Amino acid sequence: MKHNLDSQKKQFPAGMVPLEKSIFKFACHAGVSCFTRCCRQLELYLYPYDIIRLKNRLGLSSEEFLNKYTGVRQGINPCFPSIVMLMSDNEEKTCPFLGDEGCTVYADRPSACRTYPLERAVDRDSPGGRPAEFYFMTDHSYCKGHEEAREWTVKEWVRDQQLQYYNQMDDLWAEMDTIFADSAVWQGEGAAGPRQLMAFMVSYNVDRFRQYVDDNKLLDQYKLDKSRKKLIMIDDEALLKFGFDWLKLILTSKPTLQAKR
Ligand code: SF4
Ligand code: SF4
Repeated sequence: MKHNLDSQKKQFPAGMVPLEKSIFKFACHAGVSCFTRCCRQLELYLYPYDIIRLKNRLGLSSEEFLNKYTGVRQGINPCFPSIVMLMSDNEEKTCPFLGDEGCTVYADRPSACRTYPLERAVDRDSPGGRPAEFYFMTDHSYCKGHEEAREWTVKEWVRDQQLQYYNQMDDLWAEMDTIFADSAVWQGEGAAGPRQLMAFMVSYNVDRFRQYVDDNKLLDQYKLDKSRKKLIMIDDEALLKFGFDWLKLILTSKPTLQAKR
């Protein structure tokens, strides 16, 4: 979960102290008494890149993945819906990807699962002009990983969990989410309005967006490097980035893409 921080006051929510360079102890493995306890009854928000990784892992289209595994929720953003993973309909409400030996989609697990037991926050108004990131330790009494001896710095944890690229993609999404939180961009439309539906498709349903791009020859309408255009045609992540640029152009008129004359 991301928190937008007020850089002027540098105030973090009560009880949250950024870890910075301090050392923390943690280990998660099949031998801990709480193994997989954290994969139940979750409010697990999925970001656009999480959806791409999971649907490709499962060999599903983004629409099939959304229909089978997710629900739409009103999250922190008052103007745009969030996507959550639906827990299984069993007594323990387990994550649908929890197997007998742990996570069955481990290499493509969502960013929140990778980051845990930390939480990441990004301050995009930091004084240096560059976004600043902060990590905080979560505190769930059931998690016994904190009692293990293995020591980490945040940097080591980020590398170990292969979070760098997830963070980059999530930061692009956070920028879009901030734009979507401005009611002015929707021009009075509700959730079923064409601008909202378009933004939902680009953000969460990349395969449907690919069809839209093809049907409307969208890539031919803008000046794009040959190599970028080629990549967009075959790669979901490149298409998502193009989609974000396109949404910025049509929703905010930021000159993120140059139209061909
Ligand atoms: S609760 Fe903590 S230690 Fe236990 S499985 Fe989950 S992350 Fe690992
Ligand atoms: S995706 Fe994997 S790690 Fe994340 S909650 Fe589900 S089973 Fe656990």
